[in-house]
Amino acid sequence: MNAGMLPAVEKRDVVVIGGGPAGMTAALGAKRAGAADVLLVERDRNLGGILNQCVHDGFGLFLYKKSISGPEFAERLAEDVEREGIAVQTGAMVLDLGPDRLLRLNAPDGYRLIRAGAVVLAMGCRERTRDMIEIPGMRPAGVLTAGSAQALVNLQNIRIGREAVILGSGDIGLIMARRLTFEGIKVKGVFEIMPWPGGLERNIRQCLKDFGIPLELSRTVVEIRGRERLSAVVTARVDERLMPVAGTEEIVPCDTLLLSVGLIPENELAKRAGIALSPLTGGAVVDETFMTGVEGIFSCGNVLHIHDIADWAAAEGLAAGRRAAEYVLGLRSLAETVRVSAAGYLRYALPQAVHRGARDVTVHFRVARPVRGLKVEARGVETGRRCGGRRLARAIPSEMQTILLKGPIEEDIEVGGHD
Ligand SMILES: Cc1cc2nc3c(=O)[nH]c(=O)nc-3n(C[C@H](O)[C@H](O)[C@H](O)COP(=O)(O)OP(=O)(O)OC[C@H]3O[C@@H](n4cnc5c(N)ncnc54)[C@H](O)[C@@H]3O)c2cc1C
Repeated sequence: MNAGMLPAVEKRDVVVIGGGPAGMTAALGAKRAGAADVLLVERDRNLGGILNQCVHDGFGLFLYKKSISGPEFAERLAEDVEREGIAVQTGAMVLDLGPDRLLRLNAPDGYRLIRAGAVVLAMGCRERTRDMIEIPGMRPAGVLTAGSAQALVNLQNIRIGREAVILGSGDIGLIMARRLTFEGIKVKGVFEIMPWPGGLERNIRQCLKDFGIPLELSRTVVEIRGRERLSAVVTARVDERLMPVAGTEEIVPCDTLLLSVGLIPENELAKRAGIALSPLTGGAVVDETFMTGVEGIFSCGNVLHIHDIADWAAAEGLAAGRRAAEYVLGLRSLAETVRVSAAGYLRYALPQAVHRGARDVTVHFRVARPVRGLKVEARGVETGRRCGGRRLARAIPSEMQTILLKGPIEEDIEVGGHD
């Protein structure tokens, strides 16, 4: 676009990118904490994000103290957003974000430029696809991600097949196993390459066991068969290095294969803004205020790290929005930060940085593998001083856990998990 044709730069206190549960609560948090002018931007026609396709219940317990469906949760949050007088721009895609917090938007009424006092990233995540896991074989119709299948079945009422296999035991795949069963589609099995399930125990129980759907661990799909339409998959057992074991192959006839093999935080905009990402979470490196390494840009929800439950993404949004408002109002800590790292059985700890002197900081973590009798301790790296600890009878990779760092935090902290 020629410079003379660029629209005037609008100014906003806080702009939230993404209108899912984390983005809606971030806007609420910012407004309630005193930011006068909050704008919530969503590329879809409606607010709600992924909640709109989650027709089962189990949402809303944290904020509304009752179990409601995804669309009901989205509706209640959207009503709160409206009640607070928060400006909402739907049908608008944020195309670019600079480190100076200049946003470029493609909105229905044209191109917009907005300079924000603070930005909250809440763009959610996307699913890993067949290409990313490199399953050999043909390219027939009938192979799709579990989330795409969820959108086709729940939003468009499309019957996606007759006999299905699910690869990967992530929560979306488990939920879809039950959903397909309700639709009269025979789910022949869920195959998981790891020796432990990828999803929550409650979903294994409620979505597989209650319907007699088999879950086979340490087994994967090694070949896809069929020309126009999927006709079968070949599964095989894997060894400790996750390599298929010759001679263990089995042919499973089916016309549908759902992939539930992981989620990736949607951080293209964060990269454009020069925000450092963690290789462990795929999300931004943040301090305890959810601020990324770029001044005034905050992150929350699935774009920050993949949550096990949408309610926790919403809780995080509320906190991140409040911190973004405090930043705009000049109420943030000017102290330098110390590092927080994970050790032992822990795969990651978040936030990865904390301001010196901070107290009562909640650190989220996940274990890399199932552990019984997990002892988690946070200690100063230099002095070894203990600043938090808890014991868990059992910890599994699919569940997000927390530990409280009491503080005041004065040095780098290592959060270690041991048995
Ligand atoms: C495919 C899929 C299916 C899922 N199914 C279930 C389920 O059945 N049950 C369950 O409990 N959990 C499910 N989850 C997890 C659940 O979606 C999350 O816990 C929760 O929605 C995370 O909230 P969020 O606000 O971080 O992200 P989202 O809900 O993903 O919201 C992100 C929003 O950001 C918008 N956005 C992204 N980029 C831009 C941009 N550049 N400009 C403007 N807007 C943008 C998106 O359109 C979206 O509305 C699913 C997740 C996925 C990815």
